[in-house]
This record gives sequence, structure tokens and C-alpha cells, in this order.
Amino acid sequence: MTAPTGRIKAVLFDRDGTLVEDVPYNSDPDRVRPVDGARQAVALLRAHGVGVGVITNQSGVARGLLCAADVRRVNERVEVLLGPFDVWAVCPHGPGDGCACRKPRPGMVLSAAARLRVRPEEVVVIGDIGSDLAAARAAGAHGVLVPTPVTRAEEVTAADHVAANLLTAVRAVLTDPPWGRILADERPLGTAYGPGPAQPSEPAQSSGPAQSSGFAQSSGPARPSAPGPDDGIVRTAPRTHRPVQPSVQPAVPDDRRRPR
Ligand SMILES: [Zn+2]
Repeated sequence: MTAPTGRIKAVLFDRDGTLVEDVPYNSDPDRVRPVDGARQAVALLRAHGVGVGVITNQSGVARGLLCAADVRRVNERVEVLLGPFDVWAVCPHGPGDGCACRKPRPGMVLSAAARLRVRPEEVVVIGDIGSDLAAARAAGAHGVLVPTPVTRAEEVTAADHVAANLLTAVRAVLTDPPWGRILADERPLGTAYGPGPAQPSEPAQSSGPAQSSGFAQSSGPARPSAPGPDDGIVRTAPRTHRPVQPSVQPAVPDDRRRPR
């Protein structure tokens, strides 16, 4: 069992919906739009000597909607806008292909970590949906969810760590490596996503403290002197604040609102 090192050596970002606005099956570099704070967030990591990478499901390739060159051109545009990344991992497969790389499987996290010569436990994955965090967990890495309006409420509930935006997530990674389930921001998540009405409080279903989805339990390494869930970062109640439409779940199957 390895104790937390306290040092995160690399951050792997999901691409669509996390670093750049999600344009389904985008093949057009001109449609690449970084999300707010993305450039600063990535630059901050570089300035601290933390490796940066991108891990992205691009099932549009398997679906015949994109070719590998399209993906490459879009990725190049991302680098023009956000600066160079130390590693890229792209899964071109579809959900039925049974590959090892498509998130929520851990393949891309593991391969990116290997190429960066860091251990999975020194890696944080930042993404906008549950499969990003599931891939991180399966690889033995950490995951931070940065919800968007399409992130499902249950994905927020299940996330080990949640941050209201990329910059907050990155600052949390740099100052307080994620151990235990924390919410890396004291603001209610709803406030980060515009004028949605903040919901005062809901009857707790799974809104109790962190026990439900134990990062510590599932990720292996025991925390020798666990500092408790309230160390460092303020945790408030925002797990009950949904970015949008809490009770309406998009009626889309697969791993996402629209499959990547
Ligand atoms: Zn794959």
C-alpha cells in the first residue's frame, strides 16, 4: 500500500466538454472553442511543472463520422489555442468494440501515465462526465469532475471530487491533492453555471457526507493518518445543487447525452 505522495505530477484532461466546448463529432478546427479558464488552467499546471495531457473518446471515427485526420486537425487546433500538451491519447473505437482504451476503461489513463513516466496515483483526470472519473478510478488515478449543464446529477453525486470550473479544479490539484471526497470549491455548483435557480435544500437522498462513494475504499491506498473529509477545502452542500433541471434526466442511453 502506498501512502499519498502529496504530489500530482500530471493532469489528464478530457477534451470535449472539459477543455473545449462540446461540439458533437467535431471535424472542424474552426469550431474549437476553449471553455472559460482553460488556457489559464493548463498554463498554471505547466508553470508548476505538472505534466498535461488529453484523453479523449472519439467514437465518431468508429461510427464513420470522422476520420483520424479530422481528429488530428481538431487536436492541433486545441494546441494552437491552449498550448502544447505533453501527451495525447485518443480512442477511436465505438462502445461495442470492446477496446481497452475507451473511457470508462482505464487504458488511456494508463498509457498516458506511462508515456509521461509517472505512476497512476500521481495523475489527476479532469472531466465532465462519470466515465472520465471511472477511467481514472479504474487506473488508480484521481478524478475531478467539472460539471457542465449536461452533466447528470447522479454523476455529480458519485464523483469523488467536484470543482465548479477548470481553474478551480487545477488550483485544488496544485494546492491540495485530492484525498477523500471533497468539493473543491465553496460555491454552490449552480452559481458556476449561470442563472439557474439555486435550490435551497433537498431532502437528502445521497446528500449526506462522503461515505457513499468512498474514493479511499475503492482506490486502494489506505490513508495512514486520514485527515478527515474537512481538511483543507471547504465542503458545502452543493451536491444538492444541480447545474440544471435536477429531476429531468436526458433520455439518451450509452455513456453520455450523446455518445462520444
Ligand atoms: Zn478504444
